[in-house]
Amino acid sequence: MGAFQLRARDDEVWESVCHGCGLCCYEREIVAGGLRIDLNRPCPYLDTQSNRCTVYRRRFKVAAYCSKVTVMHALFGRRMPLTCGYVRRYRRFSRHEAGGVRR
Ligand code: SF4
Ligand code: SF4
Repeated sequence: MGAFQLRARDDEVWESVCHGCGLCCYEREIVAGGLRIDLNRPCPYLDTQSNRCTVYRRRFKVAAYCSKVTVMHALFGRRMPLTCGYVRRYRRFSRHEAGGVRR
């Protein structure tokens, strides 16, 4: 298996951790006691019926505010919903588990 294939496989495995809730594609703010997600304010590229990004392959080009979720986001990102697949996987033993999602 070549380096390109290995990277593609790694990406695939990483992406499979996302369960497609779409919550990280809404306006979010830190409030006392947790994270507030404004479900009335989705990213304009989010299909709110399917929770799918309509520009997924070129999302970083068309939406400057969009960024790939990393392990650091998963571990420490305060704007990541605690229900996020990455957060649940990596933050299991972290004190950042405290705090809730408000919608
Ligand atoms: S551009 Fe980024 S923030 Fe917007 S819907 Fe797509 S993945 Fe979500
Ligand atoms: S919050 Fe997490 S699980 Fe939900 S869409 Fe975003 S990255 Fe995927």
